[in-house]
Amino acid sequence: MTDLTAFGVTEPQDPPATDEEPTSRWPECVGCGQRSRDVRERLGQSIALCPDCFRDREGL
Ligand SMILES: [Zn+2]
Repeated sequence: MTDLTAFGVTEPQDPPATDEEPTSRWPECVGCGQRSRDVRERLGQSIALCPDCFRDREGL
């Protein structure tokens, strides 16, 4: 049985962002857990949400 993961073969992932801001400094979305510079406390929400999760919660 061949397990490719044993050879360090994994699913390709997006390269780390090379912007001026390291991703680790971005806030984490409470909804989906992703970090993004767009994650922030939204109007009427006391938790940090990304635009997508905010839209979901607002039912838009
Ligand atoms: Zn989210």
